[in-house]
Amino acid sequence: MPNEPAPVPLATAALLGRCPRCGQGALFRGLLDVRDSCESCGLDLRAHDAGDGPAVAAIFLIGAVAVGAAIWVDVKFAPPLWLHAVLWPALVLPFSVLTMRVAKAALVALQWRHRRNAP
Ligand SMILES: [Zn+2]
Repeated sequence: MPNEPAPVPLATAALLGRCPRCGQGALFRGLLDVRDSCESCGLDLRAHDAGDGPAVAAIFLIGAVAVGAAIWVDVKFAPPLWLHAVLWPALVLPFSVLTMRVAKAALVALQWRHRRNAP
């Protein structure tokens, strides 16, 4: 694509959840659903599928941190079990969604960058 502008930086597309081509349009419709096309430049986003990658990122990153933090809190403060049952889902769920959004946006941006010129 000789006349196409340079893609937006990966960090911008991933952290802000923007279109990988123009950086203006929102990538997501709702929390984790990728739009069919960019509302700003019309880029077709249906062909870009992040698969299970974002969930793996959330499981490995957030899961490891949450287990370590839960063990530390239990050893340090010895709270009742009901507090663990309330505390950790309240922290893990929003951070997991945030991690999956960033990972999905990054994977879609990387797919678009590296597959757009593929045969
Ligand atoms: Zn766009």
